[in-house]
Amino acid sequence: MEFSHIFFDADDTLWENERFFREAEEHFIKLLSGYTGPEGVQQMLWDRQEENIPLFGYGSKTYMIGMADAAMELCGGRLPSDIYYGIKKIVTDLACHEFSLIDGVEETLGTLQEHYTLVVATKGDVTEQMSKYRRSGLEKYFHHIEVMENKTEKNYLELAAKHDLEPHQLLMVGNSVRSDIVPVINVGGTAINTPHDVVWVHEMMDMPESDRIIVVEKIKDIVNFLL
Ligand SMILES: [Mg+2]
Repeated sequence: MEFSHIFFDADDTLWENERFFREAEEHFIKLLSGYTGPEGVQQMLWDRQEENIPLFGYGSKTYMIGMADAAMELCGGRLPSDIYYGIKKIVTDLACHEFSLIDGVEETLGTLQEHYTLVVATKGDVTEQMSKYRRSGLEKYFHHIEVMENKTEKNYLELAAKHDLEPHQLLMVGNSVRSDIVPVINVGGTAINTPHDVVWVHEMMDMPESDRIIVVEKIKDIVNFLL
């Protein structure tokens, strides 16, 4: 394979993310347990999240709005202050969670850095993603970070153009089939999937058939395909 750049997703590809959101969700379900059962709270949260993402994008601020909307509905249109502040604490804890890199990331980036221009290509809230990037200690391996508006085919075409690459020269590594694999393949690029055992319901999608998709078990396995 002939590539000059490798684009890496960040959340659940370079560092743990989704499991902290799952913990937050569990705390939210507990907080609202006096109003309805766990499945009802969870479904209400997912539904309100899906409504808010197109308006406010990805990240914990949107998560907070979704939680407040869901709680308001579950509380019959009057949100008690203890529930509101409970939600705020859940989201504050989420923003300050301990940082945890995915196993093998540093050695993989260290090896690939010698041969490729490495770029982080993540989506979400700029402040939040930049903060995680700084805290990760991975800046030394990357040329820079791109915080994308979303990860649609259009966004990947713009990403390629920005780096003077043809779409077929895009090489993306990531855990999400919906965001990191399918749109990249659809514009003619190549994608390496590093599956993570915790998948956000919003990102769930079946893997398509393509000879431009490589699935590896661990991130360090990508070195075998690229060097
Ligand atoms: Mg991800």
